[in-house]
This record gives sequence, C-alpha cells and structure tokens, in this order.
Amino acid sequence: MTQTDHRVVESAGAGSVPQERKLVTPIPGPRSTELLARRNAAVAQGVSVTLPVFVTAAGGGIIVDVDGNQLIDLGSGIAVTNVGNANPAVAAAVASQAAAFTHTCFMVTPYEGYVAVCEALNRLTPGDFEKRSALFNSGAEAVENAVKIARAYTKRQAVVVFDHGYHGRTNLTMALTAKNMPYKHSFGPFAPEVYRLPMSYPYRDAAAGLDASGPAAAARALSILDKQVGAENVAALVIEPIQGEGGFIEPAPGFLGALADYCREHGIVFVADEIQTGFGRTGSLFASEHEGVVPDLVTTAKGIAGGMPLAAVTGRAEIMDAAHVGGLGGTYGGNPVACAAALAAIEEIEAGDLAGRARRIGEIMLPELHALAERHSWLGDVRGRGAMLAVELVEPGTTTAAPQLAAAVNKACHQRGLVTLSCGTYGNVLRFLPPLVIGEDLLREALTLITEAFDEVGAGLTPVPATAPEATTDVD
Ligand SMILES: *Cc1c(COP(=O)(O)O)cnc(C)c1O
Repeated sequence: MTQTDHRVVESAGAGSVPQERKLVTPIPGPRSTELLARRNAAVAQGVSVTLPVFVTAAGGGIIVDVDGNQLIDLGSGIAVTNVGNANPAVAAAVASQAAAFTHTCFMVTPYEGYVAVCEALNRLTPGDFEKRSALFNSGAEAVENAVKIARAYTKRQAVVVFDHGYHGRTNLTMALTAKNMPYKHSFGPFAPEVYRLPMSYPYRDAAAGLDASGPAAAARALSILDKQVGAENVAALVIEPIQGEGGFIEPAPGFLGALADYCREHGIVFVADEIQTGFGRTGSLFASEHEGVVPDLVTTAKGIAGGMPLAAVTGRAEIMDAAHVGGLGGTYGGNPVACAAALAAIEEIEAGDLAGRARRIGEIMLPELHALAERHSWLGDVRGRGAMLAVELVEPGTTTAAPQLAAAVNKACHQRGLVTLSCGTYGNVLRFLPPLVIGEDLLREALTLITEAFDEVGAGLTPVPATAPEATTDVD
C-alpha cells in the first residue's frame, strides 16, 4: 500500500479530498484576498474571521482553498465536523433526503427522521432512565429551551452558571455566557435571574493559592449559591463538563459530582451543556461520562450532524414533558435534511468508534504538547481530553496571561497551513480540535508544524531570568 493510499484509508470521512498539506501561495493567497475584500464590503463587520482563506472543498483532515492551498484542519469548524466535512455517508443522506423533501415543519406534518434522532439521543446520552428529546437549530436555542423546560418543571426562575462559561449569543444565552468581549459588550440589557458561580479551574485556582481540588472548588461555588440565591429559587444549574470557549477548562475531579449531588438534593435541574464536548470529542460519547455524572438534561449541537445545523435537548421524561403542548418548537427545528445528516453522522461515530479515535488523538498529541511545555516556560498549562486539547500561554516564568503569544503562535500556525483557533477568557489559550477522522500521518505532520510555530515565537522572547518573578493571576 502506498503512503497516499494509507492516508485515504485512515481518513474514512475524507470523501475525494486529498489528505495532504500543500501550500502554493502565501496564506491567504491572492484569490482569497480578493474575496476578503468582497466579504468586507458585503458582510457586517460584527461577523469575525479567524483565517481568511476561502474554502472550496474540505474533508478528512484537509481544507482546500480557492488558491489551491491544502491546509490541515485542527479546528473542525469549532468541534463540529467530528466525522469530517464531507463524510460520504452524511453527504449521501443529505442528498437523498433533500431530493425526497426538505421541509414540512415537524409540528405541522411529522416525519420519521426526527423521531429516529430523538431515539438515538435518548439511547446514547448518559442515564438509563426514560428520556425524551426535542430538536432545535442551534446550540444557543437548545440551551434556551433547556432553561424553559427546567423552569416549567420546577416552577422556579433562577439559573446558575459559571465563570468562563459559554452558552451562546442569543439574549438569554448571552446572559449565561461569562465573557463580555466580544460576546456581550454593548448588547445589553440581559435576561434577569442569572447567577454566576466560580468555576473549578485547576491551573488558576492553584496559581491564586486556593485549594484546587474539585470538592473544595464545589464548596466555594455552592456556598455562594446558598448565600446569594437560595437553592429553593433555582430552576437549573447549567455547566459545560469541560468548558469550551472559556479556555478548555476541565474541572478538578469531584467538582461536577458535588454539583450534581447538590442539585439532586435540592430539586434543581442539572443541565450539562455538551454542545462542544459531545459526540466522541473528548474520548467518550459525552464528557459527563468521564466522571460518571448523570445530568437531568443534556444540550447537544455542534458534532451532532456532520456540519448540518441541528441541536437538541435530551433528558428525563418527567422533566422534558413538563412544558405544555405547543410550548416548545420552531419552524425549522429538527429539519428533515439535518436529521438525515445526524442519523448518518451518529452511525459513523458509533460504528467507526470515533470516541476511540479521539482518545488516540489525545495519546499522540498530549506527550508532544507536554514536551513543548518542558522547553518553553511560557506554556503555563497543557490540558484536555481526547481530541479537545489546549495550551494556556503565559508571560515566561509567570502565570500572567499572554494573549499576544497565543495570537503569535496562531499566526505562525496559519502561515504553515494549519487551521488553529484560540480561546479563553483571557484570549491566551490555543486550542486543538482535529476532526476525529484525521489520518495519523497528517496529525503528526501538524504536530511538527505546531512545534516549529512555538519554537519560532519562543526564539523571539527574552529568556526567563534565573529567578522567575512572583507568580500572579493578573491578566491586564
Ligand atoms: C458553541 C456552543 C454553544 C452555542 O452553540 P451555537 O450553535 O453557536 O448557538 C453553546 N454552548 C457551548 C458549550 C458551545 O460550545
């Protein structure tokens, strides 16, 4: 078998896209630059762009641009294309459903695909109790509906969320989201009855001299909830089991469990927002499973449908059924084409053991990232699970956030034909989210390029003084 065959076989979701990095122009190239000018004249500037190469094809681990460049994808369109951007099974399901019918509105005249997606979600999400699901268009819409359902069930109003949390950009989910810039700035007033608690953030808790253990962090959070909100007023606690946009923050062991116990004791609906972590991304189907936490409700989106817009709320039947008939829905929610895509994607994830592939990606990438951190004192923390991995960058020898270094490494990666993303409350986290179907050769090549990018940025830094300055959590 030739090298090329090997790559194609490894990237089951590649379609016809050659699984090779190739740079034929600077990034972005001339045709992308032309399109960028058109974009800037036609598209509202509030819609940002991370890497302005305009895409003509994508699949497996490769994105092809209008100039003929082939970039390695370490972003998966923000954790969406777990099965690849042009997975043949998904593409065939979409084509066949689109030819049959594109829409009727499930609330007007229903169709089987919607029911089958709900059955799959009820079967796959944590917890072996009776469940129901409802389908929507976007992650934010799913989170909004989880809150509606929890309020209808508990007859309470307050919603508790966490520092660094991200739940979307609609009005209620902006209120639930922690970070002002760019998500909330100038867009208020926000929805009321939203309360924010401190998150377990092992790296920064330790840097701040706090007990960084999960139970201690939970005790700090729950004492605020008790004193400032009152458990009996709380409808729902909404949390990402591993935070996404906030910086790929994995809470210390025991944190989620303690919150779930508290919710059970006080009749609060525990909502796991698995929109970024779901569908194999972290090495299990859902990230809640790593700690054996069983949420009452789970919100899903991103990885659910191979790139087609679909989202869901799934959970305990008695909670899900608390909303009155007609209270949930939407014109497009559970669109038949998106449902067909989801059924194909879910089958690819299960049959292809993509959660196992995610674990393998972590096994390959984490040791290399740790090795980089050994060499560069500005890699403050390396973390993540499966194919949801991140490096938090700091001023050399301190814990002071260094967003400019994240931007510099990102740029160095982009110039080498790697699609990488940053995140984090302080903008100083570089995150890696390869498609779960990426071939191992391509992944190893990406790691070599990441290493080059870090070394290039590191070479431009002043060496750390022998006596490192005092650790600080200042982010300014
Ligand atoms: C992306 C994301 C959302 C919002 O999903 P949209 O589809 O962009 O509305 C909500 N929660 C989490 C954890 C996310 O990562």
